Amino acid sequence: MDKLKTGRIIKVSGPLVVAENMDEANIYDVCKVGAQGLIGEIIEMRNDRASIQVYEETSGIGPGDPVYTTGEPLSVELAPGLIESMFDGIQRPLDKYMEAANSSFLKKGIEIKALDREKKWDFQPVLKEGDKVSPGTVIGTVQETTVVNHKIMIPYGIEGTVKEIKSGEYTIEETICTVETSNGLKEIIMLQKWPVRKGRPYKTKLTPEEPMVTGQRVIDTFFPVVKGGGAAVPGPFGAGKTVVQHQIAKWGDTEIVVYVGCGERGNEMTDVLNEFPELKDPKTGESLMKRTVLIANTSNMPVAAREASIYTGITIAEYFRDMGYSVAIMADSTSRWAEALREMSGRLEEMPGDEGYPAYLGSRLAEFYERAGKVVCLGEEGREGAVTAIGAVSPPGGDISEPVSQATLRIVKVFWGLDSQLAYKRHFPSINWLNSYSLYLDRIGEWMNKNIASDWTKLQIEAMTLLQEEANLEEIVRLVGIDALSEKDRLKLEVAKSLREDYLQQNAFHDVDTYASLDKQYKMLKLILGFHKEAERALKTGVYLEKILAMEVRDKIARSKYIAESEISRIDEITTELTSEVDTLISEGGVLDA
Ligand code: ADP
Ligand code: MG
Repeated sequence: MDKLKTGRIIKVSGPLVVAENMDEANIYDVCKVGAQGLIGEIIEMRNDRASIQVYEETSGIGPGDPVYTTGEPLSVELAPGLIESMFDGIQRPLDKYMEAANSSFLKKGIEIKALDREKKWDFQPVLKEGDKVSPGTVIGTVQETTVVNHKIMIPYGIEGTVKEIKSGEYTIEETICTVETSNGLKEIIMLQKWPVRKGRPYKTKLTPEEPMVTGQRVIDTFFPVVKGGGAAVPGPFGAGKTVVQHQIAKWGDTEIVVYVGCGERGNEMTDVLNEFPELKDPKTGESLMKRTVLIANTSNMPVAAREASIYTGITIAEYFRDMGYSVAIMADSTSRWAEALREMSGRLEEMPGDEGYPAYLGSRLAEFYERAGKVVCLGEEGREGAVTAIGAVSPPGGDISEPVSQATLRIVKVFWGLDSQLAYKRHFPSINWLNSYSLYLDRIGEWMNKNIASDWTKLQIEAMTLLQEEANLEEIVRLVGIDALSEKDRLKLEVAKSLREDYLQQNAFHDVDTYASLDKQYKMLKLILGFHKEAERALKTGVYLEKILAMEVRDKIARSKYIAESEISRIDEITTELTSEVDTLISEGGVLDA
């Protein structure tokens, strides 16, 4: 500790501590505060005065108490052991920390390492003596869980030739490789550290063009997100934000999930901690935790830890991206995070901006979302990795004109607007198709035309047009009644209704309906719009609309969402049935039953 410089506390205000005599310290340095050594981070420096946000309860410390700076920024530990872990906002392992915090022996300021130091991992080298290495080079792998193969990479700043490389069981602090560099031998261990507020380096950023398929029809078809993109899910309480995030964690085609929970309700995070391990990974049948890192801020934790949590989360996400994986990070809810920012800003007595949020709310949010992206990773192998960031926002009263929603929407390119009225009608997911958007739609459309079906975009536009027309037609119906509409328009209303109920609505808790592949989505969309076309054909020859709407095949169309993935060719059979049923109607001459 003698290398640490000592300052003195002059003021304590909740989680904020001001100390003087801190001229050796730098902004964002981690400090040990008070005799107990509470962990804090400098968030403002004025001359020799440091404002420190403290990540632990500050009762019991006061003016005159010492403050030591570690001279290091807030960092996370990166190594095998991350997957399946549950951390708090500054990467303290929740189970161990809670155990220690509750025991009567250990008190505040307890230092528990984020990752296990004793556990041995089976390291399998992929390089040999004499191989050249640079930052990002994969030197070997560790099978971390049944599904995650953890790649051990050369840390930033080291370049040279492998002098020795080992194989077998090692802890994350034991040397597994020695590298001869221009300034001597460097020992490589599995453990790396990285400052949370700084994005991890990569070779080049790519334009993301591949969809991050979620299996949720309203998202994939109408408001898709790309691998490496960002999306916001604003919605009032109970609209379905958490269910959307869970569905994407489960079904999104990503290899790693980082879930940052900033609890909305008192015990919501406890629910997450209990529920997440119960979620089954549909791809492997095992617990979803086998490819998940969980970061949770329970409501009894100090606000400051919440502020750090999204950066801790995205740093871990970037680390797995650097291995060449596709990673999804969810933050639920960023509004709770923003409130922590607001509280700290208030205590710093900064000039408040909109609704009391600091003026830098937008830039802080951007620092999170802009670390999403698709990249060519460091290292010679040319691996490509992606981080997709999805943030829930819970605007008070569901009104998205408030600052956090607005700041988020200025950054992300996808907006899934959850609607309390739809949720009330139990239309789930309650994503409002009239005001949601995805700026990736054109690019993904091209991908879909090439990879799924050449008429994908055509169908997608046709369906959205019908949904928009429905809104206009309903307005007319409200004013002058349904009889004012032509049969053609009434048919449109029926098809739009079918799109809403049979396509957009998707039950997260139904075994089959919970997920739809892109192929299934295509077939379903084609079927529903095929009905429109066939019905128009019948109308033209004089068949009454009532007869068309009473066709038996309609029930099959409505139930097509429950057709299992392994049997989706049955959807094509319904299309054939549809055509022949319409043929029969036409041949009957289209007269109503007498
Ligand atoms: P929020 O996080 O916005 O407060 P939740 O995600 O907890 O809301 O959703 C509230 C409830 O809405 C869920 O408990 C569930 O009953 C229902 N719900 C939301 N989305 C769906 C869905 N896709 N399928 C079925 N039910 C849903
Ligand atoms: Mg929620």
